[in-house]
Amino acid sequence: MSSAMSPSAASTILRSYLTQLRLPTMAANCAAVAREAGASNLDYLAFLAVLCGQEVAQREQSQAARRLVQAQFPWPKTLDEFDFSAAPSVGCPLGVAAILQLASGAFVRAHENWLVLGGPGVGKTHLLCGVGRALCQQGFRVRFRSAAALVTELLVADKEHRLPRLLKQWRSIDLFIVDEVGYIPFSPAGAQLLFQFFADRHEVASVAISSNLEFGRFTEVFHDERMTAALLDRLTFKSTVMVMEGDSYRLKESLRRQAAG
Ligand code: ADP
Ligand code: MG
Repeated sequence: MSSAMSPSAASTILRSYLTQLRLPTMAANCAAVAREAGASNLDYLAFLAVLCGQEVAQREQSQAARRLVQAQFPWPKTLDEFDFSAAPSVGCPLGVAAILQLASGAFVRAHENWLVLGGPGVGKTHLLCGVGRALCQQGFRVRFRSAAALVTELLVADKEHRLPRLLKQWRSIDLFIVDEVGYIPFSPAGAQLLFQFFADRHEVASVAISSNLEFGRFTEVFHDERMTAALLDRLTFKSTVMVMEGDSYRLKESLRRQAAG
């Protein structure tokens, strides 16, 4: 091998090759990593492994950041910020284990669903976002919508004759979170489309929903009894159902703050 190249020429040429190969982190770090490798007598392969490792780590980080943006979570809350002891129904060891199991992504890999039922302020949206974020970090594609926004989106797509295309596109999203099913009743057309949305994903890709209604009251928002029965049959097939009981966390926090101040 010729050694006629000076270190500074080698560094310039290497950086240009790495840029051409679209390896920006390696291009930016190669000189510094080479210096460190020289100082610590690292052999050639170990040097290359360290440099490639930095590129891979950087790439994973930016892909995870992109997935988080694409998921469109309403707030940046994480599972770490969830106080399990303040949520009596999920705070038990079994409940915590169930959330960690969900955050591992096993249910998404199996195309199963997750349903969270409970009154306002008990932490449903926080848990959905927390698990969703954890899944984004692991490489899953997640999307968050309130049920009302989703129905509007479906109605517009239907009107513009692009519903089948949209549903097909969404099949590549591993977990579709539909928050607040039941807060506002849907129009019959909206309910039909939401039913179609859930049916389209059945056993193909996962959904997670939150609702303030128990299953027996789903007809109040979906109207049609047979359609609601078919919907629940699909949604609950191979799914994790959590019922969160207890007082509103928001209310408890306000009362605690008032008492303290
Ligand atoms: P829900 O969706 O059930 O109405 P949210 O998830 O919106 O409730 O929770 C209301 C607020 O209280 C949010 O700011 C949320 O972060 C917070 N919260 C609820 N439960 C907990 C908890 N167990 N630990 C920490 N924060 C919580
Ligand atoms: Mg909520």
